[in-house]
Amino acid sequence: MLKINFSNNSDDLKMRHFILHYGELALKNRNRGLFEETLKKDIAFKCSKIGPCKVRRLQGRLLLEFAAPIDAKEVKYALCKIFGLSNFIPCALAEATLEELKCRLGERLAHYNFSSFAVRARRADKNFPVSSQFVNEEIGRFVQQKTGAKVDLTHPQTTLHIELFVDKIFFGFEKIMGLGGLPTGMAGNVLGLLSGGIDSPVAAFRMMKRGCYVTHIHFHSAPFTQPQSLDKALELAEILSQYQNGGKLIEIPFGEIQRSLIAKTPEEYRVILYRRMMLRIAEKMASEFGCLGLITGESLSQVASQTLSNLTTIESAVDIPIFRPLIGMDKMEIVEEAKKIGTFELSTAPHEDCCSFMIPKHPKTRSTPTELATIEKDLDIDALVQKGVKESKIFDL
Ligand code: ATP
Ligand code: MG
Repeated sequence: MLKINFSNNSDDLKMRHFILHYGELALKNRNRGLFEETLKKDIAFKCSKIGPCKVRRLQGRLLLEFAAPIDAKEVKYALCKIFGLSNFIPCALAEATLEELKCRLGERLAHYNFSSFAVRARRADKNFPVSSQFVNEEIGRFVQQKTGAKVDLTHPQTTLHIELFVDKIFFGFEKIMGLGGLPTGMAGNVLGLLSGGIDSPVAAFRMMKRGCYVTHIHFHSAPFTQPQSLDKALELAEILSQYQNGGKLIEIPFGEIQRSLIAKTPEEYRVILYRRMMLRIAEKMASEFGCLGLITGESLSQVASQTLSNLTTIESAVDIPIFRPLIGMDKMEIVEEAKKIGTFELSTAPHEDCCSFMIPKHPKTRSTPTELATIEKDLDIDALVQKGVKESKIFDL
């Protein structure tokens, strides 16, 4: 479950309007248009499951408007899982005069409890007739009179956000941080190697954050290991799919392939051989699914198979680019991120990964591509890859 700390007690209020801000200002004109369109579609898709709504562009922001007042909490959870939003404000609406704003604000103030506050007005439309500073002062005095709370511009308990347009004013007491990043799919499709561990879901999430649409692939060794690893991979993929609206998990039975590798190769190279084989099968599936690269959760020197030399040897088995977004991260940092995403608990439930199948006692920490090419020369690599591809199963998320 995604952990979000909402800042105050407005959860209980029903809202119709949400002002959404997005970042990535450096985006150039054409990309910006695509960014906004994709973001609008993502928001409409998620939020229309909560209630009939429209999303439209409004002076460099987006306005999400429901047909009727709606449980704000549900909308907040949905918006917190959309890449591309830097923050959003659940809002009430007033007509475009300060008198009208005071009137609507007066009705809402009773729902909030605070001893200090700040007012932050922004002229979304620079044609609004008075300056934002004037609005801050005028409305600040009004709130002070109504509530007795004091103004504190450095550490306010509550901030009243006001967005001024020429024909209307939105206001809200809560600005919620979004996930940031880029809207789903803007960067293209990639295939993520998803084990049941902590790292690979975080790696997939990081690529999603930069606009990738991620399809997942999981290798399991049933019946030689217990079948739970597939269920776990499916559940992890389901959690991740909430951040991109669905997706697919490809399952590859890998046990027989591992047995063939083990039969003809020295023990200490096993994990390297497994990984090279996984990448080859993944490369084939990637081209079938239109994915431009593979993702792994490898982090430099985390385990024997992830030394600089072994990573180089492993990736030399394929031509497709391999993205390793966790390469420079410590385990503790990855764990923190897994907790935020909501995958940590599931990842730490016990399971038997396929790489624990016939694991060597003393794995090689150094290797070269040439060494591996020699070790693999008696294997029918193409036939093993074909077997993996042929036996693959696809699950819709
Ligand atoms: P952890 O390190 O927390 O055990 P992990 O998922 O990183 O989990 P590693 O053994 O470090 O597991 O594997 C390195 C990477 O190889 C993984 O991040 C994943 O991308 C890929 N991988 C490993 N096992 C599998 C598998 N059974 N199916 C798909 N990908 C796998
Ligand atoms: Mg790992």
